[in-house]
Amino acid sequence: MSDQELRQRPKLAPGVVTGADYLALLDACRTGGYALPAVNVIGTNSINAVLEAAARNKSDVIIQLSNGGARFFAGEGCPDAHTARVLGAVSAAQHVHLLAEAYGVCVIMHTDHADRSLLPWVNGMIDHGEAFMARTGKPLFSSHMIDLSAEPLETNIAECAKVLKRLAPLGMSLEIELGVTGGEEDGIGHDLEESADNAHLYTQPEDVLRAWDALSPIGHVTIAASFGNVHGVYAPGNVKLRPEILKASQEAVAVRTGGDKPLSLVFHGGSGSEKDKIRDAVSYGVFKMNIDTDTQFAFASAIGGYVNANPVAFTHQIDPATGAPQKKLYDPRKWLRVGEKGVAARLDEAFADLGSAGRSLAG
Ligand SMILES: [Zn+2]
Repeated sequence: MSDQELRQRPKLAPGVVTGADYLALLDACRTGGYALPAVNVIGTNSINAVLEAAARNKSDVIIQLSNGGARFFAGEGCPDAHTARVLGAVSAAQHVHLLAEAYGVCVIMHTDHADRSLLPWVNGMIDHGEAFMARTGKPLFSSHMIDLSAEPLETNIAECAKVLKRLAPLGMSLEIELGVTGGEEDGIGHDLEESADNAHLYTQPEDVLRAWDALSPIGHVTIAASFGNVHGVYAPGNVKLRPEILKASQEAVAVRTGGDKPLSLVFHGGSGSEKDKIRDAVSYGVFKMNIDTDTQFAFASAIGGYVNANPVAFTHQIDPATGAPQKKLYDPRKWLRVGEKGVAARLDEAFADLGSAGRSLAG
């Protein structure tokens, strides 16, 4: 990107971006030909690792919670699952509102798949979002996601419309799913074999157009599109990504709107994907690539390496062979920090893959 192009880009205040700022960020992705990683988080360790990596890569970033991640954020011991899912997500969003500005990056605050059974979770978060708006003048989240891709299209669109009517006045967006992502994420998902074999599971342009016609008059939507993508990481050869099929959906909607790549598309199951397919997907209008499995592994493998290198510290407070105190080695800050560094290092790779490094709009 030339110096002139960089200077012409809008500057946004660092922090959680919503409303018109969110749309400006999507537009910068579209015109700049890059996308942002959407990283699933489960606690302050993973959130801080994402903020650290975004800041050092001078990239904006998307932080999101699945229902299970939100529940974990509130604590597995919190007795009521619904309450924990709602309050965990609210707590995580408030943490990001407080800290994103200090890290100097723009953050899109998002939630992940909600099927029919989780619509009360989404509505509970919106209740808190409305109260947050009344108190601060800002939405709590940038966007939620509803995934009714397993239901008939008409039902999917009708339920999304109901939720979008609550989100639009808050300046929030809604991610919907058309066609289904293979694999499984937090108990929501579809069999990999079924996904790979069934052409109907690829997002169909006529479905996209119907959703666009019904929902775009109500508010802003982004679309999780299926092009052979799956949740999780599988042995090579099991996943065949076909990002070129996204072109037909872009063209179908461009007939209504004019312009180039009017749809803001979401790539679920980014972990383990081939680099050239990631670049292709971004070129067809993907602005958000979800990553969870790979950052889970990065966190676990970094800590695993630390434990293997310091085994005595995890079984004895004093080394029985040398008499040396082990406190400085078993202090949770030591090994949790190693995990954070592992996550941040994996995200360095994601920012490079998606072309977002050096392109933060935070000014
Ligand atoms: Zn997903």
